[in-house]
Amino acid sequence: MATDSNAVCRKCRREGVKLYLKGDKCYSRKCPVERRAYPPGQHGQGMQRKLSDYGVQLREKQKMRRIYGVRERQFRNYIAEAIRRPGVTGDILMQLLEMRLDNTVYRLGLAASRAQARQFVCHGHILVNGKRVDIASYQVRPDEAIEVAEGAKKIAPLVAAIESTKGVPAWLQFDANQMKGKVVSAPIRDEIDTDVQESVIVEFYSR
Ligand code: SF4
Repeated sequence: MATDSNAVCRKCRREGVKLYLKGDKCYSRKCPVERRAYPPGQHGQGMQRKLSDYGVQLREKQKMRRIYGVRERQFRNYIAEAIRRPGVTGDILMQLLEMRLDNTVYRLGLAASRAQARQFVCHGHILVNGKRVDIASYQVRPDEAIEVAEGAKKIAPLVAAIESTKGVPAWLQFDANQMKGKVVSAPIRDEIDTDVQESVIVEFYSR
């Protein structure tokens, strides 16, 4: 996955909305979506064509993949799992993505972005129920404790993220002093503030 700053911001400009991939920069006036609200590339400014239904579904799917930093193959697996489980497929899809360990670390306020959260997880800085888990896609479960490993408690970006946290969603609890959180329950759709139309994405894969 591309990591240079412009490449990351181009993803937001392509989708025409902020995907919040860069931490603090996303909330500042340096955000390229605010300064150049048109698609990237030489002809970006002239690209205002109306999308077909297929195009709308495709863009929505790409947007969701980019927000959660999930590759196409893995995303298809989430769709298949959401269809397999009983319930509203779109809601279950959102739940599966939200309950990834990297997203949970981000939602707890331990990282400024999902990409940074993924890095903390992959570097072994995060414990689940006291055991190191370095798999970003690990699915957290209700009642599991998520905490920062002892040796990582002074990592500057992690400390800075906690200091600038804006609170946690209702499905999580967090104790900043202990750098420890808990999964209270699986999130319902109203508790997930990701601005995507998941039903459109399910339609895309049901064609
Ligand atoms: Fe870049 Fe963040 Fe703005 Fe997206 S929202 S363009 S990642 S600064």
